[in-house]
Amino acid sequence: MVRQLRSGDVFGRGPAVTSPTTRATTSRNATADRMVQSVCPYCAVGCGQRIFVKDEKVIGIEGDPDSPISRGRLCPKGAASEQLVNAPGRQTKVLYRPPGARDWQPLDPDTAMDMIADRFLASRRRTWQDTDSQGRVLRRTMGIASLGGATLDNEENYLIKKLFTAAGAIQIENQARI
Ligand code: SF4
Repeated sequence: MVRQLRSGDVFGRGPAVTSPTTRATTSRNATADRMVQSVCPYCAVGCGQRIFVKDEKVIGIEGDPDSPISRGRLCPKGAASEQLVNAPGRQTKVLYRPPGARDWQPLDPDTAMDMIADRFLASRRRTWQDTDSQGRVLRRTMGIASLGGATLDNEENYLIKKLFTAAGAIQIENQARI
């Protein structure tokens, strides 16, 4: 009561009931070297994010009040997107499980890219349709499809759409549209 009267916090909701521990607590993001504005990668809403960086590592992500889309808010998934970068379980190496194998094995990225390209080209060749049964022009393949994720950005989606369309694929989708 004395503290409430002395501090002017008559309802006991402010400094009169704030512990020294709470007063000494600061946001982890307040220790950042810099802040970078970005967009949440998880869904098509595109909420604005403030990404806090310290020693060149992401230490926290908050909603960006400057965003006209989200005005500082993030849903629980977007608020946890720091884990997209820092989660200890995050896979950062290419893993491959050969046909019939029980275990995954590491693969260097160049070999993995060559294997993907070989399979892509082989599927395209094997399933290419020049015309339909009545001789109408198709020039397509139904043997290749693309399903993008919402963590892809505009530029990546643009290039994926170009690549797959040029290759004759017509089944091109994105998780954010499903
Ligand atoms: S914060 Fe939530 S609603 Fe906003 S873009 Fe990210 S996932 Fe979508």
